[in-house]
Amino acid sequence: MPIPEYFALQDNRMPRIGFGTWQAADDVLEKAVESALVAGYRHFDSARAYENEAALGRALRRWIDGDPAKRKELFVVTKLPPSGNRPDLVPEYFEGSFNDLGLDYLDLYLMHTPFAFEHVPGDLHPKNPDGTMKVDHTTDMIGVWKALLKLKETGRVRHVGVSNVNEEQLRRLCAVEKPECLQIEMHLLCQQKAMISVAKELGIPVVAYSPLGSKALTDALAAKNGRVYPDLLKLPVVVKIAEAHKRTPAQVLLRHLLQSGAAAIPKSTNPTRIKQNISIWDFELTDEEMNALCALDKGEDGRICDFSFFPGMEKHPEFPFKKQ
Ligand code: NAP
Repeated sequence: MPIPEYFALQDNRMPRIGFGTWQAADDVLEKAVESALVAGYRHFDSARAYENEAALGRALRRWIDGDPAKRKELFVVTKLPPSGNRPDLVPEYFEGSFNDLGLDYLDLYLMHTPFAFEHVPGDLHPKNPDGTMKVDHTTDMIGVWKALLKLKETGRVRHVGVSNVNEEQLRRLCAVEKPECLQIEMHLLCQQKAMISVAKELGIPVVAYSPLGSKALTDALAAKNGRVYPDLLKLPVVVKIAEAHKRTPAQVLLRHLLQSGAAAIPKSTNPTRIKQNISIWDFELTDEEMNALCALDKGEDGRICDFSFFPGMEKHPEFPFKKQ
């Protein structure tokens, strides 16, 4: 059965394949965004913490070329960085993103993490002399969420949501007002079955980040922690299914996420792969193939982005990934 290419939001729609922009240098990103627009991407995922919003904004503005109808086609997302996680700082951090992107409005603004760094002007990732993060233990996640909701009143952002929260935090946020989007790590080895079912119950669309297994991050983490991160694109089950459909492993991974009920925001700076990652609407995984892929889930053990690259962060009272 065909699956919808968009998630419906109030007066808006979010394309279920978006373009990731993490770990892309400005000049590379500008070219990649141009390729992505030609390939048909209209959903772009950014963050203050990626420090490349200005490059994304330049490429998008060139494409929009002053035409409000073209702006309306886009769905542009960015995120409040952990150093902005205090209610009084939200407007200032939003302003920075808003100005760098240079658009008349943003579609979605996310709280990037429930935990917080200290606010150190000019340093989005402040560290202590011993290399641990400057953790802000005083953060008020609910106060920050209310400040995000207030941003909507300015008309500069149409929707607000959250990222990297756990179920308990999500329910706490919902008691104030339901986030309009939940962005979480989600891929073959970390299928987020519990969060998908909670989000479904609450009526919140889920966007899968690191959908292809985030090779750059796994390489960096493995060099530090010695853990072996399987390459999702080379898993025999994935390769076999890709061959059966005459598709690539990446297309199978993305299709699996879509058929599992999520949107996905793969990142690539290679024009061929950029095109490949959005060309996934004309084939379908069978129930048998879905079952074989779903069986590879490792749950919490499959998580890659555990924020261990922010030493000391796990001590924050809102750190989301404590093992149960
Ligand atoms: P990802 O999309 O899972 O993987 C990106 C890697 O896969 C890159 O090394 C890319 O290399 C490669 N790749 C892309 N398409 C491919 C294909 N068709 N075949 C083979 N390799 C392919 O990783 P990610 O960047 O971590 O996640 C995607 C986006 O999610 C990010 O860019 C960011 O926007 C968002 N994100 C959000 C959070 C959060 O905390 N909310 C955290 C992480 C990521 P090439 O560029 O060379 O193709």
